[in-house]
Amino acid sequence: MVELKGKKALVVGLGRTGVPAALRLMRLGAAVTVTDRNPAEKLKDDLAKLPVVVSREIGSHERVINEEFDLVVTSPGVPWESPLLAAMRASGAEVISEIELAFRLAKRDWVAITGTNGKSTTTALVGAMMNESKLESVVCGNIGNAVIGEDAVFERDVRVVAEISSFQLEGVTEFKPRVSAILNITQDHLDRHGTMEEYIRLKCRVFDLQRGNDVCVLNLDDEEAAKLVERAPCRVFPFSAQRVLKEGVFANNGRIVIVHNSESWSVGDAKDLKIVGRANLENALAACAIAFSAGADVAAITRALFRFEALPHRLELVAETAGVKYVNDSKGTNVGSTLKALDGMDGHVVVILGGLDKGSDYAPLADLVKRKKASVILIGEAADKIGAALAGYADVVRAASMEESVRIAAARACRGDTVLLSPACASFDMFRDYLDRGDKFRQAVKNLSANGGANAQKA
Ligand code: ADP
Repeated sequence: MVELKGKKALVVGLGRTGVPAALRLMRLGAAVTVTDRNPAEKLKDDLAKLPVVVSREIGSHERVINEEFDLVVTSPGVPWESPLLAAMRASGAEVISEIELAFRLAKRDWVAITGTNGKSTTTALVGAMMNESKLESVVCGNIGNAVIGEDAVFERDVRVVAEISSFQLEGVTEFKPRVSAILNITQDHLDRHGTMEEYIRLKCRVFDLQRGNDVCVLNLDDEEAAKLVERAPCRVFPFSAQRVLKEGVFANNGRIVIVHNSESWSVGDAKDLKIVGRANLENALAACAIAFSAGADVAAITRALFRFEALPHRLELVAETAGVKYVNDSKGTNVGSTLKALDGMDGHVVVILGGLDKGSDYAPLADLVKRKKASVILIGEAADKIGAALAGYADVVRAASMEESVRIAAARACRGDTVLLSPACASFDMFRDYLDRGDKFRQAVKNLSANGGANAQKA
């Protein structure tokens, strides 16, 4: 157990991570200060959760930047190279992410799942498989509930099944899961990490300290993740939706199979999964590989897998109106996720793209929209950049709001078509977050139905 009594701790960034981090540090006897650059008005609800003994500087960091602390704990949204964190390091404070703090305080069996896309789906699925197997597990992390806020993790001998982002991996030093997974690596968050090399280097921290019998699950179908087989310092248990493996999890003619030490188990048929598309097949295989490596039994894995339904805002069918399917993939916040979402759709697609750019290259979308003859509707700040990348490849129109884009999409869609919201961008230019964006899409689709549906007269 890390000794925190009497230590001076600073928590940077409030919200879903900072509040429970501050409360945990306080309960362990640290003298806690919190700071957030957002105005107090915006943080009203978060601040109300903190007792008065927690000192605070809200709206700026002017005072705390000149103070000395023993430990600084960061929220994922705080840039690692920010002036405040740089000053803290220079003053001799130890700066770590919340996930590192949670790990130091709870040396349990950790399952840590990272990757550019599919983390939440896979993490939820693994949690369901572990619990079905009677291996009590707490599903937490980037999926929505910070590990540091989960009392069970600190009080009982549970397993921790955590979704981990590259932002959280910036601030780890001792983090060492029993089972790790890198699901895929495609371009994302370059506005924060600068280069792909740096992004990949951070993802590798999930396994850097693993050894011997620890397991790393890697996707052999993903170019970057497959390259890491050689780099992993522990046993690799891979998965592939494209080829038969001698060790690992694969899909062969639609049959999902686990092979380990020359023994094999048939899990079931991919066509019976409730989650659809190639991306989700990869997530299903990944989850089987992870849960199996963490000790779940195959019968429990099977039961949980075939019961599992899509999480909201991930390839979620929200309505079928006048023969047109409306799919909400608001969580498609990078080019890699949108490529897979679009590629996985049958028939003609009207796709809504755009939002806040993260320094992404949209060129990889051009060939696919051309091949699929997709109609494209652009929204948000990235509209010009995406429009330029798609010029000559697709029929592109602009819309000023979600409501308008859904109306235009409905007018362009024929019976049997799909309208897909999979923006390839962050949401913060027009919406509170991806949840708000997905909800606005859902509402706009509902309004359509109320007004008589899509362009049903077209055959
Ligand atoms: P994450 O937590 O990594 O963001 P999610 O499960 O929330 O992952 O899915 C995020 C987005 O990525 C969704 O748009 C979803 O359709 C898409 N997606 C899910 N799994 C994959 C995958 N294995 N490969 C590519 N895209 C995926």
